Amino acid sequence: MKMSKMYLHTLREVPNDAEIPSHQFLLRAGMIKRLVSGVYGFMPLGYRVIRKIENIVREEMDAKGAQELLMSAVQPSELWKESGRWNDFGPEMFRLKDRNQREFCLGPTHEEVFTDIVRNDVKSYKELPLNIYQIQTKYRDEQRPRFGLMRSREFIMKDAYSFDKDWESLDKTYDDMYDAYTNIFTRCGLNFRAVDADTGAIGGSGSHEFTALSEVGEGVIAYCNHCDFAATTERAECVIEAKCENVELKEINEIHTPNIKSIEELHEFLKVDGEKLLKTLLFKAKDQIVAAIIRGDRELNETKLVNALKIPEHELEFASEEDVKRVTNAEVGFAGPIGIKDVIVIVDDEVPHLKNMIAGANKTDYHIENVNYDRDFKADIVIDLKLMKEGYPCPTCGEGVNLARGIEVGQVFKLGTKYSEAMDAKYMDENMKEKPMVMGCYGIGVSRTMAAIIEQHHDENGIIWPMSVAPYHVIVSIVNVKKEDQVELGEKIYKILQDQKVEVLLDDRAERAGVKFKDSDLIGIPIRIVVGKNAAEGIVEYKQRDCEDKYEFTVEEAINKAIEEIHSSVL
Ligand SMILES: [Zn+2]
Repeated sequence: MKMSKMYLHTLREVPNDAEIPSHQFLLRAGMIKRLVSGVYGFMPLGYRVIRKIENIVREEMDAKGAQELLMSAVQPSELWKESGRWNDFGPEMFRLKDRNQREFCLGPTHEEVFTDIVRNDVKSYKELPLNIYQIQTKYRDEQRPRFGLMRSREFIMKDAYSFDKDWESLDKTYDDMYDAYTNIFTRCGLNFRAVDADTGAIGGSGSHEFTALSEVGEGVIAYCNHCDFAATTERAECVIEAKCENVELKEINEIHTPNIKSIEELHEFLKVDGEKLLKTLLFKAKDQIVAAIIRGDRELNETKLVNALKIPEHELEFASEEDVKRVTNAEVGFAGPIGIKDVIVIVDDEVPHLKNMIAGANKTDYHIENVNYDRDFKADIVIDLKLMKEGYPCPTCGEGVNLARGIEVGQVFKLGTKYSEAMDAKYMDENMKEKPMVMGCYGIGVSRTMAAIIEQHHDENGIIWPMSVAPYHVIVSIVNVKKEDQVELGEKIYKILQDQKVEVLLDDRAERAGVKFKDSDLIGIPIRIVVGKNAAEGIVEYKQRDCEDKYEFTVEEAINKAIEEIHSSVL
């Protein structure tokens, strides 16, 4: 491609609303354009990257026997009502009506549509397993779209759905998808981890999240350097050994704590560590008030709490001041486990092992010391409620875990029979017995992967694309297009590289050399060949985007080096 003819508009200034590198560089490099909040279009250079990622996804999916198709983004409400998600999905769903007032949505995901297609076609075990996928635009009306392609309202996703005859067969399909994902993200040049994940609103029995490590990521993962444990912090099981099994239980005693309402104030007032305190957090779940009790220095994991209560996440909210006063008979800030009424008491599994603790007294301006589980209060549910923190013991080997922030680029789920039972997707087995299909689903955020790659591959001057997803492999820059020898040699190198099937840009624009170099760094082409003042002697400058070194090469050396570099890269 000759850049003099190319639709490319780069920006020198960082756009105001772009907070993170991928968002800034995608806009500055003219690869995406914002239409409205959270909705972006892809310009020629950016769309080439999207297609490269899509092709890597296709090759790896096809290698595992998955088949590509394309469904409509418009979906009728009836299917969602059948699965029970039309209401559950909530305000994130883009809904619309046709001229006859029939309701539709713009698909945020496609479980219902794929299940519907398969249940109408597939009748026998002989047709299973089946794994079908699409690469398509998805819609989610995010409350806070931000970070460009990272959290947008319209995005490109690869979604696959598998149908197996039993769980054993699903396990095999799931492992295949896990392998395919590992290959895909490796080829995209990402530093990532596959971590054990919560199944959340999609439901099912097992899940892994593929997380690209990045400081700007919205997710946090916990991992162990001594074994292969890795999980999202929501999911990570916390095993904490209490060290006070043989402590003598003391008598409970009320202590006056005027106006001491938070755990931090209590900590300061009593001069004791969080380890000696119990905190009681009050929530409302549907019509019930829930008291969650956990050691003072631990953080409550709301995902574990909603899972224990078996309710969807959006049904949990903080209890109102009025509710707190009703169940504690005191002002807000003095809730505790003893004497609290009309609540479901759920305690963290560490609490029964803690002795002589300090807790709220359910009486304004008072706390109680020497509170002990079993003797002084009991719970309806005892379960791990802790959020994993840096240094907590690894649930597998006991060494301290590490935490890292990351971007979720893919997730695989074992759905089981959740959708096939709700939507009656059944097949006849070998004994002519009707059974529900056992399903899995597998997503990759294609446009988000593009952003994640930039987060991991950039410097202050711009993007540094890995060869596998670079929009072009080589850029040939002509320093001065008024010099005939430079133009001639630049075009010659361009032609030779094209003949060698190298994807090459020729910067033949009538711009200053400085502008050309800045743009070539910004758009992140892996190899640059500069044709300048030594053109007459057949000497050019060779430089790779990921390295500071520059080399004076003959034309032949530069071309050979470029081709060698491309062929030795992961593509
Ligand atoms: Zn470990």
